[in-house]
Amino acid sequence: MLSHLINTDLGNRGMGKIYPEYRLHNGDFVKKASQELFEKLEHVLIVTGFPVPPLNTPENDGPAGALAIFHAIKKLGGEAEVLTYPLVGKFLTSQGVRFIPAEEYTEIPLEDYSFLIAVELPGRSRNGKYYSMRGLDVNTSPIDSLFLAAEKRGIPTVGIGDGGNEVGMGKISALIEKYVSLGNKIVSTVPTEHLIISAVSNWGAYALVAMLSIIAGENFLTWNEEEVIKEMKECGLIDGVLLHPSFSVDGIPAKIHFTMATLMSQVVEHGLQRQIL
Ligand code: ZN
Ligand code: ZN
Repeated sequence: MLSHLINTDLGNRGMGKIYPEYRLHNGDFVKKASQELFEKLEHVLIVTGFPVPPLNTPENDGPAGALAIFHAIKKLGGEAEVLTYPLVGKFLTSQGVRFIPAEEYTEIPLEDYSFLIAVELPGRSRNGKYYSMRGLDVNTSPIDSLFLAAEKRGIPTVGIGDGGNEVGMGKISALIEKYVSLGNKIVSTVPTEHLIISAVSNWGAYALVAMLSIIAGENFLTWNEEEVIKEMKECGLIDGVLLHPSFSVDGIPAKIHFTMATLMSQVVEHGLQRQIL
């Protein structure tokens, strides 16, 4: 049911059409990703940050999700680190979380990690360039190479995305080309072992946290979503659709994100009481 909720396609960007086809053969995609993560919490690397052109300022979809996953892993007794851009790092620091600057990605000792998670991270297209949903060039280093290298080493990975141009979407490139406008151009060629598709990437991350909560028997969806979005605005992260700092994410007002997070939290409470889901 969590996968239904997070694919409520309010932005009408394509996931509403892709989700029914994806779930035909991947019905338990949130559950499977959460179960493997739960078993491999020793040292998790979370990578997030999508610089949106033309200003190439990181957007606020992704960072909030990465933060929620970070806290859940810590509460479960695991270790986690976040690799991201300095502006996202400013937001994380305001929440008491340290970060590894994105430019240091080449120094990451992959062999030390048990699991990798990409939340709204640009994935290279067929010609090797990175594109926004509008088909504009994204100015980013090839950080997605971490996920290609992890696959070669057999390190499990999860990709969380909402548009088709993110790390993980290489797993469903045919569906992206079929349903997303400019899909042929922007589609990411970078697959991940697990792929969580959602209408907003933060929601995909929250679903992962919700399922970890169910597995662990403790609700980790306890933050105030409006306060988180307000803090991201104050740090200068932009709404990726409106292209300026805003009390919204992906053009959707903060109140709706608050309501979605609250609904997921209540679904978790219900699941914990009834032992269902
Ligand atoms: Zn996206
Ligand atoms: Zn988004």
